[in-house]
Amino acid sequence: MSLRISVIGTGYLGATHAACMAELGYDVIGVDVDKEKLAALAAGILPFHEPGLPELLRKHVGSGRLRFTDSYELAANEADIHFITVGTPQRADGHGADMQYVDDSVDSLLEHITGEALIVGKSTVPVGTARRLAARIADRARPGSEVALAWNPEFLREGFAVKDTLSPDRLVYGVDGQQPLALLRRVYAPILSAGTPEVVTDWETAELVKVAANAFLATKISFINAFAEVTETVGGDIKTLADAIGHDARIGRKFLNAGVGFGGGCLPKDIRALQARVSELGLSHTMGFLAEVDQINLRRRDRVVSLAQSMLGGQLPGKRVGVLGVTFKPDSDDVRDSPALDVAVRLFNAGAEVSVYDPQGNANAAGRFPRLNYVESWQEAAQDADVVLLLTEWQEFRQLQPEELAEVVAERRLIDGRNVLDRAAWREIGWDITGPGEKYPQEEL
Ligand code: NAD
Repeated sequence: MSLRISVIGTGYLGATHAACMAELGYDVIGVDVDKEKLAALAAGILPFHEPGLPELLRKHVGSGRLRFTDSYELAANEADIHFITVGTPQRADGHGADMQYVDDSVDSLLEHITGEALIVGKSTVPVGTARRLAARIADRARPGSEVALAWNPEFLREGFAVKDTLSPDRLVYGVDGQQPLALLRRVYAPILSAGTPEVVTDWETAELVKVAANAFLATKISFINAFAEVTETVGGDIKTLADAIGHDARIGRKFLNAGVGFGGGCLPKDIRALQARVSELGLSHTMGFLAEVDQINLRRRDRVVSLAQSMLGGQLPGKRVGVLGVTFKPDSDDVRDSPALDVAVRLFNAGAEVSVYDPQGNANAAGRFPRLNYVESWQEAAQDADVVLLLTEWQEFRQLQPEELAEVVAERRLIDGRNVLDRAAWREIGWDITGPGEKYPQEEL
């Protein structure tokens, strides 16, 4: 019998997973509570930016293999494997993860599942969640139904989501028996047959693998940014430092770029949720270093704001600031906890006139902070600017030429917040350019 799949929560992760499962040949039904999102998806329109995904969505909505609904009843009737991909944002009242959406989606499924089914958690959750949900399933499943649970964390990167789903670095499943394992192996058979490593483990390990990976990546970024604080004070070249240590295969060069820090819908909330969870477990010291990682990361934003102020002779009110990039990283329209957007808003709040251009993120940013001046090109953002800030390293900005930008600005001042421009070439034609990790000559430290 062919596998029938539902994907519950059709956001960045769920919409990608649903379309990729259809690409593997399954009949897939995507479920969400957001009717607007569902209507867009059902019309083959992706409501966010993700390279390669619109084509996949259109293909499988067109073929009828991929459908969308807000009906849990339909999902329970028409699928045997239910992937949970709802959000687990930071709680409004603390650092822990808000588990309401995961719990609600499982409860809604249990109301309607009447036969055998497997629920597969993919959302990033605090360790212990699967065990807690298993008890909930035992308690709430309909009489006569048989509902198993597995945890299958997701490691996709926005911007590479399709590739990461169809050709992941590894598949990790936390299972408590042979039957869920056999089903997951059937689902992922086309991916496994390409040689993808498989890690089979228990629920707790599977949950921890995901948060450990994110904690490690966040630590690596904050590690180099801590050294950036040192070179900003004493002098030195942070990129050369990163290159030099990165040659050591034990360290590696990736994620060692000093900049405005990490953001997005995952890393910041995941390291906070991990600290909150280990505190609940009585292990608050164990992950204490992550509080430092978070603080170093947040100080990057302060640094860029104060750098802009120094470049402008200490005066922000009334100054024209051009911001290039507001998403938390290129090739995404995601502005959740975006350092770039945060910096833009802080400059605005300090009295600057801020014009913003992002190739994909303007609409989402305007949804959160409508008072910034959003424009449609880098030329407009930089028009008559007293200082320009490159805050997200879109290819379009990496390719900027010093002569081109000089034509539109009022003053040749530039903060390269991602350290992607060739400083020497810009300085050659009189730009005052600096960025993270660099000691800024005029700055009063
Ligand atoms: P998102 O906010 O884009 O999507 C979550 C979706 O769940 C929304 O569409 C929302 O309407 C829906 N939802 C909420 N409650 C629901 C319910 N009761 N029933 C059905 N749908 C419901 O979030 P996301 O970025 O896709 O993240 C989802 C999970 O995946 C999180 O745990 C996140 O940490 C994890 N994750 C995300 C990424 C990523 O790159 N975005 C990567 C790996 C893991």
